[in-house]
Amino acid sequence: MLTWFRTGRAAAASVLACAVLLVVQQAWYFGEWGGAAVSTFVTDASYVPQALVFTVLAARVAVSRRQEPRTRRAWQVITVAFACQLVAHCSWFVQSQILHSTGYPSTADYWFLLFSPFMFAGLLMLPGQYRRRRDRQKLALDALIVGAGGFIAIWYLLLGPILNAPGMTSWERSFTAALPIGDLLLVLAMSTALLRRHQPEAPAPIRLLAGAIALTVTADVSYSWIQLHGGFTGGSWPDLLWLAGCFLLVVAADQQYRRPRHPAPRRQDRNAVAIFPYVASVAAYLLLAERSSHLPLNPYGGMILGSAVLTLLVMARQLHALRDNREMAVTDGLTGLANRTLVGERLEQLAAQPIRPGRHAAVMLIDLDRFKPVNDTFGHEAGDAVLIAAADALRGVIRAGDLAGRLGGDEFTVLLQDLPSREAAGAVATRLLEALRTPVIFGEHVLMVEASIGVVVRDDPAASGETLLQQADTALYAAKRAGRGRFEYYSTVMDTKAREAELRHAVAHDELVVHFQPIVALATGELRAVEALVRWNHPVRGLLGPGEFIDLAEETGAVVPLGAWVLRAACREVSGWPAGSLRLSVNLSPKQVAQADLVETVETILAETGFPADRLTLEITESVILQPDPLIIGRLEALRDLGIQLAVDDFGTGYSALSYLRRLPVTTLKIDRSFVTGIADDAEARSVCEAVVHLGDAFRMTVVAEGIETADQAAALIDMGCTVGQGFLFHRPLPPGDAEALVRGLEHV
Ligand code: C2E
Ligand code: MG
Ligand code: MG
Repeated sequence: MLTWFRTGRAAAASVLACAVLLVVQQAWYFGEWGGAAVSTFVTDASYVPQALVFTVLAARVAVSRRQEPRTRRAWQVITVAFACQLVAHCSWFVQSQILHSTGYPSTADYWFLLFSPFMFAGLLMLPGQYRRRRDRQKLALDALIVGAGGFIAIWYLLLGPILNAPGMTSWERSFTAALPIGDLLLVLAMSTALLRRHQPEAPAPIRLLAGAIALTVTADVSYSWIQLHGGFTGGSWPDLLWLAGCFLLVVAADQQYRRPRHPAPRRQDRNAVAIFPYVASVAAYLLLAERSSHLPLNPYGGMILGSAVLTLLVMARQLHALRDNREMAVTDGLTGLANRTLVGERLEQLAAQPIRPGRHAAVMLIDLDRFKPVNDTFGHEAGDAVLIAAADALRGVIRAGDLAGRLGGDEFTVLLQDLPSREAAGAVATRLLEALRTPVIFGEHVLMVEASIGVVVRDDPAASGETLLQQADTALYAAKRAGRGRFEYYSTVMDTKAREAELRHAVAHDELVVHFQPIVALATGELRAVEALVRWNHPVRGLLGPGEFIDLAEETGAVVPLGAWVLRAACREVSGWPAGSLRLSVNLSPKQVAQADLVETVETILAETGFPADRLTLEITESVILQPDPLIIGRLEALRDLGIQLAVDDFGTGYSALSYLRRLPVTTLKIDRSFVTGIADDAEARSVCEAVVHLGDAFRMTVVAEGIETADQAAALIDMGCTVGQGFLFHRPLPPGDAEALVRGLEHV
């Protein structure tokens, strides 16, 4: 049966059947079709299938490997509780419909009673998210407060009257008292389960279980009350609640099975049910007030009133302390603005809102210009005064629903909601700039600061809070570059612009380095040449390969100064190595080839570094020779006339027209790595390699194979007649020092 239930469809069908059954039963109850006896029969009979379904569904959770082990163990105990209910309902049906016995307490009553302790244990075993002992203690206190409130209600309604009820045997008295005490346990466990810090709220199965328990407890209390005041007969109104509770148990067990094992975590620690303990306390006092209204004011009235007021005041005080704690955790100590934590939370909320037409939200990042000199010259106190004044200025400009925060140092942020237009954000930014320009008086000094602001108006529903902040930062950077004391709107173009600026800065400040990869004779491993390959020693991101910035450089034109830098650096470096026949290969980008002053630049660099032109090879890409215009052909020929050799890099990946290849002063073809990689097992790749080698033979060009990683690849290339290559099999690209050591080492051999 369990296996059958594992197929979701059977479970869904049972849940649906239970729902239909519930509707039919409730309709029957109110319709009283066929008289009270039939209606009672329908009600009593409805329990059995419901109880069967929730027990099976709970057992399905209890054995499911999809559940976390702790959840599984808790559900094993819950299944036992459910099974007790199943037995209870079956025996109730037999005793009321078949045996027509009315004895109290009956077998069914004992089984009903057993439900509470198992359910109590099961609910407490459900995994919580508390690691700290303090949190667990607080949870226990909250749950106990709710339990105490429940106790007062149950004492008033049941336990007190039970103690005084006439004509009961002591066994009957104890049993009648046991049921409400069991209910009290359920209330305690339910509030514990709900009050746990769930993310972002109690999961559906727990809420459903809590609903079921609330209904069951209400029905139980009513049942005991009716028992106490005359005796309960089946089919009365508490049955409606019990049955509805049963149905919620069915749905809860089904939902638990469907839950993903690890629901996505979300940060939020406010829980709507956190007010439970307060509600319970107030309700208990209201009850007390109602019951004690007739008591003599002296001494009871005043004392009870005093206690109630005391409790309320202590509660109010606690709420205050909670608010203070929260405020302290999310406020920037110096300025009183929101701190990074709160800004982060609010940013995520802002990013999660749907985008509505005509309503805009904006994020601003504000940086004080020339704050550091103030701090350095006049000291930290002056710096603090400026920051406090800036915070006041922000507060003065934004509206009530908006948020101003300090992210650290002199960096502030403002989150704006519900703006009527994009331009409205700009208007606020202008007012902020104006307000921040107000001089700050510090002692006898008048301190002047200004600010730059980056503004991003949210228009991409997928952008996270973090992304919005980054975009505002990009806009801020643009505002600073455009002359400070102003604001800029973020636009996607800026990303490229900012990165380009960073790259150009890197070229100008020698953040680039050249590594050298040896090119060798395949048969002997003898060193023939080195290829210069650029890297960026990024101050934050570490050593970056060309894959991370060459495309951008190409797109923005930054590759022109970058390429010249690499050529100069490589020539200078290799000039310092022992002279010999070792060649140097340097990559040339299409943008560089398109420059009118290419030949001049190369000539100047050669002259400057003293590197001999006849030992230099420039690598161009296939796209350059695809449709060479006469100017480019002229430039390439001029380079050849200087004695420089030209190689076509990554050959085979583009669409080189053979006729062009012939007309160009190319001396070397470099077979692209993708073909070399596939040479052993891809017939097509192998054919391309062979074709390139033949082409080289026919045109009398040297063929260099790139990216050789295995001895088999090298052997296959040698078989084809390819004599020169480079790849990790021989050497990886080496930092200048290592490359030079390699060359010098060989020289000594
Ligand atoms: P490329 O000119 O074809 O350079 C060969 C690339 O293949 C280098 O990557 C090298 O490290 C890599 N390589 C060499 N042997 C092997 C191997 O056995 N296995 C593997 N997996 N890879 C191997 P790198 O240094 O990342 O350079 C990538 C590309 O960036 C270069 O391809 C070139 O197109 C470009 N590049 C590098 N430096 C410059 C430069 O200064 N200027 C220009 N315009 N482009 C450059
Ligand atoms: Mg290359
Ligand atoms: Mg290549």
